[in-house]
Amino acid sequence: MPLQQYLQINGQRLNQRLQELARFGQAADGGVSRLAFSPADAQGRHQVQQWMQQAGLETRLDPAGNLIGRLPGQLSGPALATGSHLDTVPGGGKFDGVLGVLAGIEVASTLRDSALVLTHPYEVIVFTDEEDTMIGSRAMAGTAPLDAAAYRRKDGSPIDDCVNQVGGCWSQLALARRSREQICAFVELHVEQGGVLETAARQIGVVQGVVGMQRYQITITGRPNHAGTTPMDLRQDALVAAAQVVLAVNRLATCPPGQRVATVGALQVWPNAANIVPGRVQASLDVRDLDQGVIDHLVQSLSLEIAAIAEATHTSIDIVPQLQVAPSPAADHIQKIIARASADLGLSIMAMPSRAGHDALEMGRFTDMGMIFVPSQGGVSHSEVEYTPPEACTQGANVLLETLLQLDRYYSLEQMRQP
Ligand SMILES: [Zn+2]
Repeated sequence: MPLQQYLQINGQRLNQRLQELARFGQAADGGVSRLAFSPADAQGRHQVQQWMQQAGLETRLDPAGNLIGRLPGQLSGPALATGSHLDTVPGGGKFDGVLGVLAGIEVASTLRDSALVLTHPYEVIVFTDEEDTMIGSRAMAGTAPLDAAAYRRKDGSPIDDCVNQVGGCWSQLALARRSREQICAFVELHVEQGGVLETAARQIGVVQGVVGMQRYQITITGRPNHAGTTPMDLRQDALVAAAQVVLAVNRLATCPPGQRVATVGALQVWPNAANIVPGRVQASLDVRDLDQGVIDHLVQSLSLEIAAIAEATHTSIDIVPQLQVAPSPAADHIQKIIARASADLGLSIMAMPSRAGHDALEMGRFTDMGMIFVPSQGGVSHSEVEYTPPEACTQGANVLLETLLQLDRYYSLEQMRQP
């Protein structure tokens, strides 16, 4: 099928702007440190606001400091929305977040240049502080605590002051909340940040959802004792028990094969001395999957194994929940439309979960959500060598455009079907 019949975004401008935006916060090694609320972040947001306005988007800030650009639709009903974030981690790259924002602006420019007005209003959203508190998307989803004391930013700065400083209004944070009646669908284009697409030689990832995450602290209590004088059969060695827990976690996540992942990433040993039988160990546990039932099943199975390990090693083992983020599945019809849009554009696809958190995770809490991934070279992200080739960025933006066009028709038909 000839591609000419499909609208195309301006790939050259998109890739030029990806480079231009990297000037804000760029370090000598090429890495980008545009931390949320920093002067570089403010400069980047200002630049993006200008590009939004040039594309015909009307801009505003909401109380969470989210920068929102909006095109009116033929009808005044709910909007189709896209967007991502401009903030980076320290020493981050040029593509994480930025691609989704700039692609959204390109979509607006393309619509305007082709004198096309969608049935639905269209919004491009720059979310506040994605890399730390995710305050922007959480406020929109209504999942953000309103008490500033509930947040602990990595640099210790108070979230309320930060939000006010970028033009938000902390005391009105609750008003940033949006509903399905205001946004009927949210689609985010993002770099994969892993190596799955590159390894499989596919061009577009159709994201099935953002995985849920559950974290626990496991405490194993034995009895510290002399490493020379305590016979093996009289020991209550907490580290020997911990080693068995680590292996059990790995086994439960590996067999039978599936998409779930589970990790013991941190261990602390007391008293941590060469000549003392370890008396206490604290271990972290991190479990992720798209399906909450799979996470629950793994944790239940582990609890049974832990009881057996405790008995066999004469230790006591406690497992205490620390953090729970429920999975956020992508809407089936949006996954189908992304797959069809990719096929229309002659691009190969792969269905995959997102294993990293994104603003789309929170948006999916209240409206239909979808995500489009493009490959990350070498699977590297959050690094100065993060790279996605220009043609892949352009392809992702074209899939975003085509997806939004098809969603515009989808929701128009859906509204007609309603009584
Ligand atoms: Zn990101």
